[in-house]
Amino acid sequence: MKNKLQLIIQLTFLALFLFLVGTGRVQLWMGLFLLGVVLALLLSRLYCGWICPINTVMNGVSWVKKKLGLKGYKTPLTRTKPWIRYLVFALFVATFITSMVTGRQIPVLPALFAIGLILTFFFPEQLWHRYLCPYGTILSLPATTARYTMAIDQEKCTSCAICKKVCPADAVEVNDKQYTINKKECLVCLDCLANCKEGAISYC
Ligand code: SF4
Ligand code: SF4
Repeated sequence: MKNKLQLIIQLTFLALFLFLVGTGRVQLWMGLFLLGVVLALLLSRLYCGWICPINTVMNGVSWVKKKLGLKGYKTPLTRTKPWIRYLVFALFVATFITSMVTGRQIPVLPALFAIGLILTFFFPEQLWHRYLCPYGTILSLPATTARYTMAIDQEKCTSCAICKKVCPADAVEVNDKQYTINKKECLVCLDCLANCKEGAISYC
């Protein structure tokens, strides 16, 4: 469950996104995305967890699925196939280049918005965040240097695995029973922090 402030911020940006799509000015959204890239250098992927309209609607779909008790399918991709992410990213870049060379406007972001939304009806959010979203692939690069990030206090952690279970980005990793958060993949969605009963997770 999101905290109220986060939900209000997410819904406000979603409304802005839909307004820009509706008025044919969705390209202006790229200014916000670029700001998210710069922010990620210091504050991690706040864009993903707090601003991205794709993530916001995916959260809504997941919430409805949970309420209805719908399980869906398991993620068909695994970390053993990291190249898929880069293949999707290459297609994304090729689409942009085609758009620039031909002068034809291709609605990439609205198309990805629809794909992310549809996929979430059938699969966990991890599929999109970890393996498919090209914007996430871009943001994962500056996030590697972020000063502020989600972190687990090893003194408090009891290795209960709840954070790993609730993470929508498969960003919680386990080595020798020690749980850590991969800041490159973390969306700063705060779901782990809200669910950790030991209070072991913080944004610092
Ligand atoms: S939910 Fe909290 S206690 Fe459980 S593994 Fe994650 S950080 Fe550790
Ligand atoms: S590690 Fe926590 S904050 Fe980061 S994406 Fe996963 S649940 Fe969200």
